[in-house]
Amino acid sequence: MSAVQPHVGIAGAGLAGRLLAWRLLRAGCRVSLFDARARGDRSSAGPTAAAMLSPTAELAVADAGIHALGMASLELWPRWLQQLHAQGGREVYFRREGTLVVAHGADRGALEHYAALLRARLPQDADGALLESLDEARIGALEPLLAGRFASGLYLPQEGQLANDQLYAALQTVLDAQLAAVGGAWHEDCAIASVEARALRDAHGTRHGVDLAVDCRGVGARAEVPGLHGVRGEVLTVSAPGVSLRRPVRLIHPRYALYVAPRPGDQFIVGATELDSDDAGAPTLRSTLELGSALYSLHPEFGEARVQRLAASLRPALPDRQPVAAPDAGGVWRINGLFRHGFLIAPALVQRAADGIARALELRDAA
Ligand SMILES: Cc1cc2nc3c(=O)[nH]c(=O)nc-3n(C[C@H](O)[C@H](O)[C@H](O)COP(=O)(O)OP(=O)(O)OC[C@H]3O[C@@H](n4cnc5c(N)ncnc54)[C@H](O)[C@@H]3O)c2cc1C
Repeated sequence: MSAVQPHVGIAGAGLAGRLLAWRLLRAGCRVSLFDARARGDRSSAGPTAAAMLSPTAELAVADAGIHALGMASLELWPRWLQQLHAQGGREVYFRREGTLVVAHGADRGALEHYAALLRARLPQDADGALLESLDEARIGALEPLLAGRFASGLYLPQEGQLANDQLYAALQTVLDAQLAAVGGAWHEDCAIASVEARALRDAHGTRHGVDLAVDCRGVGARAEVPGLHGVRGEVLTVSAPGVSLRRPVRLIHPRYALYVAPRPGDQFIVGATELDSDDAGAPTLRSTLELGSALYSLHPEFGEARVQRLAASLRPALPDRQPVAAPDAGGVWRINGLFRHGFLIAPALVQRAADGIARALELRDAA
């Protein structure tokens, strides 16, 4: 990159926007970050998510490309979290103890179907360590809480999870310090109405000129990205001291597929519904019952859990369910369409965008 710091404007300080801002600052850019909401707001997809890192489990609904991005990101996350910590960010809960998949006796057929689907979609060159069949004894050995409750299951040993609230806080601390050091800024409560190749126009009509603009607004970019839409997801967070799971557990059911993921501080997040809808309103009673029933059916000890949060948000999805991290025909860089895989694929995708942006800025300077 040139000796003069190029100035990049990023619309959207969500998962993609924050990570990209951090990587570009590390690469020597000046960055201005704009978000429609305050930094502590929890209503967009990122702070609502369970943040499971499940490349193999997601093969039921995703392709080999997402799997590859997910596997690459699983290697990048620990390195990135270490770098964030070294730059003054808080430690972020990150575990890679695999995912357990179980089904109640009556739903055994659905579990077998799910296992066959994953096996059929696993990349040809995947080693055998991505999926194991489990019997009752092995389930109990992995998760003592579930001993004797499920006759068979699956173990996806490579998978992981992180605490998204802690990641957001760490990025916020580091970005605040780094932005101040390079004369950048984080504009809160500043909705961006449109993004051009070298400018962002806010909702008041003010034009913010930059050397290169990136759109990371998630569903907020609907008006400018054909086919972009929201996929509603609802999650329940409970606190259950004394109940212990080491890893996320997916419960396979013929009508819905739900998961329970342990979080720091005796918390568990139960998710997630999936509805093709741009309605980001409060969770429905039906969804609340489904989420609560899944948790209780995993183990009745969850019956005494305290409800901490019920939340709904919109996953940004493109019609082909594929992510983009590239400039469009008008020269606007966009990272979008992360759908239900944002945390799973963000590091690899954001790194790809950051590298491309660095090259684009060098080329432009050289021209
Ligand atoms: C219920 C649920 C569960 C999920 N679970 C998982 C999971 O377990 N694993 C996983 O990998 N992924 C999961 N996801 C998906 C993940 O959260 C998303 O893929 C990811 O958050 C998308 O990141 P993003 O930065 O593109 O969008 P967002 O996180 O939505 O961020 C967009 C940002 O843009 C801002 N913005 C919007 N409009 C404007 C505007 N006009 N001007 C300025 N700023 C604007 C918003 O305020 C927000 O800060 C889940 C999502 C949901 C909803």
